[in-house]
Amino acid sequence: MSTNDQDIIQRFIFDKQPVRGEVIHLQHSFQTIVKQHAYPPAVCKLLGEALCIAALLSSTLKFEGRLMVQFRGEGKLKLLLAQCDHQFHIRGLAKWEGDASYDDLMRSFTEGILVIMLDTGIHKSRYQGIVNWQGYSLAESIEGYFKDSEQLMTKIWLQVNETSAFGLMLQAVPPTQQRQDLETCTVDQSMQALAGMTAKSRPEAMVDLEIQKLLHTLYPGEDIRIFSPKHVTFHCPCTQKSSEGAILVLGQKEAEEELKNHRVIVVTCDFCNKQYTFDAVDIAKLFHHPPVPPSDISLH
Ligand SMILES: [Zn+2]
Repeated sequence: MSTNDQDIIQRFIFDKQPVRGEVIHLQHSFQTIVKQHAYPPAVCKLLGEALCIAALLSSTLKFEGRLMVQFRGEGKLKLLLAQCDHQFHIRGLAKWEGDASYDDLMRSFTEGILVIMLDTGIHKSRYQGIVNWQGYSLAESIEGYFKDSEQLMTKIWLQVNETSAFGLMLQAVPPTQQRQDLETCTVDQSMQALAGMTAKSRPEAMVDLEIQKLLHTLYPGEDIRIFSPKHVTFHCPCTQKSSEGAILVLGQKEAEEELKNHRVIVVTCDFCNKQYTFDAVDIAKLFHHPPVPPSDISLH
C-alpha cells in the first residue's frame, strides 16, 4: 500500500526557511463520513475541505481535546461541522437545502457564522474564534483568520475528489520559535517564494503523489525535514449517555407523550447514525436526575 492510500497527516519544516508545513491525505475516513448521509457532490467536496482544515488546525495547535470548524447559516448551507481531536479522530456532517451547487454553498457563507472552537474538556473550557468570510473559499478565510488573530502568514491548498480529500498548509514559524540564524525579515519573502512554488502545481496533480515525492517536486533544492506521519481515522465518540441531551432538549412532557405512542424513544447520532433506545424507566430516571446537557445529537 503506498502512502497516499492511507489516511495520514504529516508535518514538515524547511531547514533554511522560517516556514513549516502540514500535508493531509484522507481516503477511508473521508469515504466513511460522506457515506453517512445522502450528500450531493458539492456538499461532499465542502465537507472534505472542512475535515482537512480541522485536522490541519489540530496539528498546528498543541492541545488535548477537540477542535471544531463549524458553520451555521440561513442560506442553502444550514450547518457544516468538522471535528478533529488530538489523536486525529475525525468526524463531520453537513445540513443543506435543495439542490446546492458548490457556488451556492460558497455564497451561503455570507449568511451565517463560521467559527473555530477548541474544546479541551478541562473545566468545560472552550475557546471560540469567529472566522470572517474572505475571498471565496474556506481556505482563504482560514488564512485570513491566522493573519488577523495570530499575525501568522498562512497558505492553504485543498483538493477533494470523489474518493479522497487532500490539504497542504504552509505557515510562517511564530517569532518565538524562529531560529537565531534566520533573519525575521525574511519570513514574508520566504512564505511568498514557497507559496509561489506551490501555486505552480495544480492541486489536482498533488493528490496522487506520495507525500515525500510531492514535497521534493514542489520545492526542488530545498532542505526539508519530514516528520513521521500520523494516522487519521474516523471515530464517533457518541454514547447512550451523550445522547441523553437530545431527550432533555425535547422536555419531559413531550418525551412522555412520545413514550405513549411508541413505547420507546430512539435517538440517532447525527454523525454516525448509531441509534440509542430509551424506555419509560430510562426516561423517568433521566428527568429525575438530569445530567449536564451535552450534546452533539438531535432527535429523529
Ligand atoms: Zn455517533
